[in-house]
Amino acid sequence: MMTLLIATRNAHKVGEIQAILGADFDCLTLNDFSAAPVVVEDADTFAGNAAKKAVELAKWIANDQCGMRNAECENFFVLADDSGLEVDALNGAPGVHSARFAALDKSENSKDADNNAKLLRLLGDEPLEKRTARFRCVIALVPVVPEKIESASPVCFADEFEPQLFDGACEGRIQFSASGQGGFGYDPLFVPDGFTESFAELGEDVKNQISHRAKALGKLKAFLTTK
Ligand code: IMP
Repeated sequence: MMTLLIATRNAHKVGEIQAILGADFDCLTLNDFSAAPVVVEDADTFAGNAAKKAVELAKWIANDQCGMRNAECENFFVLADDSGLEVDALNGAPGVHSARFAALDKSENSKDADNNAKLLRLLGDEPLEKRTARFRCVIALVPVVPEKIESASPVCFADEFEPQLFDGACEGRIQFSASGQGGFGYDPLFVPDGFTESFAELGEDVKNQISHRAKALGKLKAFLTTK
C-alpha cells in the first residue's frame, strides 16, 4: 500500500483530502512529524508553493532527519496542496494570498472571518453576475527516495525530487453575506455553479464531489493507480 504524507497544517484540508482519497492509501499528516520544518510559501503561483512544500519535506524525510528507516520510505510520497480563491472583479485576488488576505502586510495568516469581511468590503454592491470567482487547487506529489541521495550527482538528485502536479478548479460566485457552518476559509461566501447554497451549507459530501481539491485529487488518484 502507498503511504502519503499530507503536508499541510490545515486540519480541514487534511480531513477533506483523507475523505476524498478514501481507504486506498495509508495517510500520515504533519501531526505525525512534529519536527518537520515550516516551509515558507513565497512563490507567486499555487503550483510553485505546492511544489516547494512537497520537495522540501520529501528532502527532509529522505535525509533521515525524521528517524524513518529506508525501508519505511518504500512507496512513500509527500503530497502538498496549495489552494485559494480567485475573484474576477478583483483581478484574481486574493489568489495565492488567500490565507493572509486581511493581513497582507504581515507574514502570518489572518482569521477566516477577517478575510471574508475584507472580501465582502472590496466587492461592495457589485451585482451577482459580476461576482464570479473560482477556487483553485494545485497538488504536488513527490516520492521520497533516500537510497538515491548518496549516489546521485547534483543533477540526478534534483530530478529525483521532481514533483508531479495535479490541478483542479471549481467555478462559482461570491454571495452578499456569509451563510452555513461547514467547511473553512471562504466556504460561507462561495456558491458553486449549479447550486444556490454556499459550500459551508452544502456540507462535505457535496463539496468533496465537486470541489477544486476533489478534481485535483481525482487526477492524482488516476495517476497513482496506473503506477
Ligand atoms: P494555503 O494553506 O496556503 O493553501 O491557503 C489556502 C487558503 O485558501 C485557505 O486558508 C483558505 O482561505 C483558502 N481556501 C483554499 N481552499 C479552500 C476551500 O476549499 N474552502 C475555502 N477556502 C479555501
